[in-house]
Amino acid sequence: SPAETPQIVIDAHGLPYLNAKLPVQKRVADLLSRMSLAEKAGQMTQAERGAVGQGADIAAYGLGSLLSGGGSTPTPNTPEAWARMVDAFQLRTRATRLQIPLIYGVDAVHGHNNLSGATVMPHNIGIGATRDPRLAHRTGAVTAAEVRATGIPWDFAPCLCVSRDERWGRSYESFGEDPALVESMETVIQGLQGRANGKDLARDDKVLATAKHFVADGGTAYGSSTTGTYTIDQGVTTVTREQLEDVHLAPYREAVDRGVGTVMPSYSSLDIAGDGKGAVKMHARGDMINGVLKGRMGFDGFVISDWNAIDQLPGDYASHVRTSVNAGVDMMMVPYTYKEFSTALADEAKAGRISRKRIDDAVSRILTEKFRLGLFEHPYADTSGAAAIGSRAHREVARRAAAESQVLLKNAGGLLPLKKTEKVYVAGSDADDIGNQTGGWTLTWQGASGNTVPGTTILQGLRGAGGNVTYSKDASAPTGGYDVGVVVVGETPYAEGVGDVGNGHDLTLSAADRAAVDKVCAAMKCAVLIVSGRPQLVGDRLDRIDALVASWLPGTEGEGVADVLYGKRPFTGQLPVTWPRSEAQLPINVGDPSYDPQFPYGWGLTTLTPVPKGGTATLRDLAARAAAAERRGDHRTGRALVTRARLLVQQKAGGHLTQAVAAPFADADHLLLTGRYGKAVDKLTQAYRAA
Ligand code: BGC
Repeated sequence: SPAETPQIVIDAHGLPYLNAKLPVQKRVADLLSRMSLAEKAGQMTQAERGAVGQGADIAAYGLGSLLSGGGSTPTPNTPEAWARMVDAFQLRTRATRLQIPLIYGVDAVHGHNNLSGATVMPHNIGIGATRDPRLAHRTGAVTAAEVRATGIPWDFAPCLCVSRDERWGRSYESFGEDPALVESMETVIQGLQGRANGKDLARDDKVLATAKHFVADGGTAYGSSTTGTYTIDQGVTTVTREQLEDVHLAPYREAVDRGVGTVMPSYSSLDIAGDGKGAVKMHARGDMINGVLKGRMGFDGFVISDWNAIDQLPGDYASHVRTSVNAGVDMMMVPYTYKEFSTALADEAKAGRISRKRIDDAVSRILTEKFRLGLFEHPYADTSGAAAIGSRAHREVARRAAAESQVLLKNAGGLLPLKKTEKVYVAGSDADDIGNQTGGWTLTWQGASGNTVPGTTILQGLRGAGGNVTYSKDASAPTGGYDVGVVVVGETPYAEGVGDVGNGHDLTLSAADRAAVDKVCAAMKCAVLIVSGRPQLVGDRLDRIDALVASWLPGTEGEGVADVLYGKRPFTGQLPVTWPRSEAQLPINVGDPSYDPQFPYGWGLTTLTPVPKGGTATLRDLAARAAAAERRGDHRTGRALVTRARLLVQQKAGGHLTQAVAAPFADADHLLLTGRYGKAVDKLTQAYRAA
């Protein structure tokens, strides 16, 4: 209980744990040896800042951490206000015996999305479409710089979910359906944290990252949730051991190698075929958290629970606490129940139901990251980087990411890129809506349509590019006299739960969106842009659409979308997930036995010039050279050769794809990502012959 904590502030100066010259391990050991059980329990507790008022409980309970969760309101609206708020809470720790600083965390999952005026990146699904690890790294670096400049050292990102069924409402948080793709995008961890050895964490432009949600959150089965017949968010993932290893655990191996500082378990349950345990909530899966993550993979950071996740475990509260802590969760996100949690934790430890060794291990892990972040030396916000928030340079990274994330699915007659001389009729619900364009986790948890954050809409981007543009949201203005229609349609924002198919959302365009597409496409040549967190079913309507673009959730920089539409930058994006023909095909993923999508994984036409020339003979040559590059370990050349082969296939196949083309095409993309360049070109040759 808090009473156990002596209230006097001792003169701690000169104590080993405050000596920055000592190795972190020594400092941790020294500090740990001075801590009471209540102080340790406090360190393992994270409260929502909206629950602590002015923060008196920070000292009373020795809280280790605060967060601003998705539902946290009101949100400070300037960098200075954020920094002042975090500092005021931090000041409370000065009144504790050992003056252990707080670690403050937020969800900055696509830029510093908690702050109006910050740079908002495309959501992960779009980043996956870029296939550009260096760009992913840069988006992480911009995010880290903006977050840390507001006094926040910890980011609950990236999501390493491998999205296997797009009816899942959090598919947009996934880099894609292929674990190899997810792994290749984990450069974002270095962007956020810096070097894998943790030595950059104390910098004023780096934050601690969180790999989430461990493990297999992206694999939950449709209709398996206990909360409804439709939702798969927080549902059950049923897998064989092999699928678990190859699909869902693989990205965590990569994250641990990259030195990710924290890992968040998933709300979902895991059911491993043949292990006899049935479906067990991840927060209770000691075999996975202690066994696989910390044991086999050697993860040495700390595990933070998801929001109130322990409340979903069976049994009474005390059992929630001991089950999750004994399973290996080190810090509990117990937003409004922090008192109950820290008290129950200390009680369970006193009763011997949680070992002191386990407590010490958890606290050591937490303190290690706090030391690495330099919080003991610099507990308060360093806002020197605040001027860069939302700066031109940062927005340029987001603009580039938006451009690179655009996937050109169909381009009949070379309609795109647009020419400046063409008269363009812009329509659709997402053409001029920054809220829809940024999606969930933007200022508010679920996000909202409308004018939510500063930025540039796609329409503004097109106008700014000097286009000859007329706009009519619902396409009600006369459509005559135009060269090209650009219809921008798609989803409205959601973050969690509500995006699940059946729960207010589905994968088809709204009636208004369909009407806008049909009207414009009947009147003129048309390009349709789909702004969404996942594929939307277009079915036969595809025949009436000349050019189709998957725009994903491009963020605040609509200019990036305009850049590719007007050919300032080429289309280079590739599908991070399979684009299905119908809902009946779901789940559908690369490598499936009867894979027959509308567009395969990896698909993406390009407006790169010059377009390569060649046929089967060229492909034979490319295959030989790609195999040679593979043997030499020359990845750059290998990738370039496979890309050329892919362009040849796409050129020949055009927009309508048969199964015989789609299946090897998708396989090739997976092979490319795993460095098997020779085989990738062989698959593309197969696709080419079938096209
Ligand atoms: C989400 C997490 C998030 C946490 C804190 C939860 O509802 O599942 O991804 O980090 O809230 O906001």
